[in-house]
Amino acid sequence: MLAAIEIALLLVVIIVVGALFAFGSYIRTLSHELQVTSNAVVAELTENRASNAPAAGRSIASRLIRSETEVVVLDADSRVTVFYEHRNDAAPVELVRTRGDLSGNPPVSGPLAPLVLGLATAFGLEQLHTKAGSLYLIIKSNDAALVATVRSALMPLGIAIVIAIVFGWLIARALTQQAMRPLGDVTGALQRFASGDLTPQTIAADDRLELSELARAYNGAIDQMERAFAERDRADASMRQFIADAGHQLRTPLTVVQGFISILRNADSPADRERILATMYQQSRAMGSLIDKLILLERWENPAEQAHEPIDVGVLVEDLAGVFSDANPQRQITVRNGGETLAAIDPIDLGYIINNLVDNALKYTDGPVDVTVRSESDAVFVEVADRGPGMTSVDAAHVFDRFYRVGRPGVEGTGLGLSIVKRAAERARGSIDVTSSPAEGSRFRVRLPRTRTA
Ligand code: ADP
Repeated sequence: MLAAIEIALLLVVIIVVGALFAFGSYIRTLSHELQVTSNAVVAELTENRASNAPAAGRSIASRLIRSETEVVVLDADSRVTVFYEHRNDAAPVELVRTRGDLSGNPPVSGPLAPLVLGLATAFGLEQLHTKAGSLYLIIKSNDAALVATVRSALMPLGIAIVIAIVFGWLIARALTQQAMRPLGDVTGALQRFASGDLTPQTIAADDRLELSELARAYNGAIDQMERAFAERDRADASMRQFIADAGHQLRTPLTVVQGFISILRNADSPADRERILATMYQQSRAMGSLIDKLILLERWENPAEQAHEPIDVGVLVEDLAGVFSDANPQRQITVRNGGETLAAIDPIDLGYIINNLVDNALKYTDGPVDVTVRSESDAVFVEVADRGPGMTSVDAAHVFDRFYRVGRPGVEGTGLGLSIVKRAAERARGSIDVTSSPAEGSRFRVRLPRTRTA
């Protein structure tokens, strides 16, 4: 609205300034005309040696006076004669006035006259006073003709101003509407949200428009929202999968226990009862272990960031692996500790890592198990390698997923051990990977950020 008024005003100002400029140049032409007339009249009078005003006037009027000028002649008898071209019949008219009266031409009247004549003077129009022999001459503009000329120009000027206002208004309105389009788009999109339609939709951001920044900011927010929705959907799907898997995993031992309870009711011999109770105890322990792991993973899902003191990873791994050696004297478990292996990790988390990896190596293979701790410039590596059956590349890509198991007859498990190892490594800002092949067995490698001072 404001811009429309401004543009219309600007156009009007341009037109008025243009009109004044044209008026100024018209006045300059007129001044030149006066000068030319003055020179011609003086030359004529000097040549003819006219001493009588009417005679002199008559001799020059028909040839020299132009429509915009008039010549006032004051003769030796103080008679004043005014010569000017009459506008209607274009013939010079001679007026004879008594002494001292120089306003011989018809009076210039109307509200416009003082303004036009004032402006003309301001633009440099002046009367020329000169003397030719015994005659005193005033060569001046024909004020009535001047005012009439300006008056005739007023109508087209007025029309031009009206057209400028209308055009300015229309152009400004079109420009404003276009510039404000992003605002309208964003408002529309937000109203759609408010009415409950949460489908993320970006809006077109035209770089040529100033408010396109708003559209871009809105699109950025929509992108964020889309990502948040996608993340929420992923988390929901993962949670549903987790609940389904956990329910399935818990149902198996529960079904076994329930089956054994009914068998127990009918068991007669103490030996049978003992066997059944032992199986039920084992199943309930499996359930307990599964529940512990689920609780642990759930607790680690939203971990409070904790900074841990650096520990000597090599020393702790030696201790932990030693326990396995003691418990499994028939198996060959070798530990190599490569010196400077300080890392900031919770010792309990490192316990989860070693226990699960060594336990798996013992569970899924029969051969020796090598545990190596070594360091590079900025990392400490803990590797657990076996020479067992290994895994396919598909299995290797998924073994860190929750509940992912590769069925091995007679080997019990929950499919949660390696996901716990992965989360434990990540909690210490580390990572884990596995290389595995049927020919060479499996090598799990945990990478931890190395700390240089204890
Ligand atoms: P679980 O041992 O309870 O099944 P894990 O998450 O510890 O669960 O392991 C997932 C799967 O990875 C196991 O079912 C097993 O098939 C495979 N796996 C783990 N460690 C080894 C290994 N050292 N050699 C071969 N397969 C392994």
